[in-house]
Amino acid sequence: MSRPYQFILASGNSHKASEFSELLNPEVLAVSAASDKLEVVEDGKSFQANALLKAKAYFDKYKKPVLADDSGLVVNALPGELGIHSARFGGEGLSDQQRYELLLEKMKDQTDRKAYFVCVLCFYFSPEKIFFFEGRLQGEIGHAAKGGHGFGYDPVFIPTKLAEGKSFAEDPNFKAKHSHRAVACQQAESFFKGFNETVDKS
Ligand code: IMP
Repeated sequence: MSRPYQFILASGNSHKASEFSELLNPEVLAVSAASDKLEVVEDGKSFQANALLKAKAYFDKYKKPVLADDSGLVVNALPGELGIHSARFGGEGLSDQQRYELLLEKMKDQTDRKAYFVCVLCFYFSPEKIFFFEGRLQGEIGHAAKGGHGFGYDPVFIPTKLAEGKSFAEDPNFKAKHSHRAVACQQAESFFKGFNETVDKS
């Protein structure tokens, strides 16, 4: 079997590196944490633009292929409020719980509860060779927080495909297989499995 493509992850977060190692087959795409976290200003206008900003910053420093991601929750009834701003919804310094409680509060009289998670992956081999993949998962915002797994908005996100109106935070097995991140990783993996072009895998 040929060697995997090697990437460093454009994030100083070792949890993210281990999450990606679980989602990606290391025989196809091997991801390791970067030795230093870079402060990248994420002022792009889209998930794709922000993933590219992160990938480019890490590539410029490490001169090695980079995997960067950007993700968030898009809520129909609150256009522009979450999405690429999901990590900062409500302002800096809030906890995950304070953010999803604010979301529940803003949604309390809303009948349109549709929402989806998005994850964009940017595989940056060089400035001339960049690949993007996107995963989405449709669902709706619940009326109360449920479940103790996961992070972020998981307790208030009810995936359409998950039975009994359970939240993401109540079913980690479902999340591992069907999340926006898992879908984007599956797409990347099937693409790279069939990718015969010669790239430097060192
Ligand atoms: P980033 O991709 O690390 O910038 O994360 C963006 C923000 O989106 C996170 O801080 C979370 O608030 C939210 N988010 C992204 N993915 C998930 C998820 O799988 N569950 C819950 N919240 C998420």
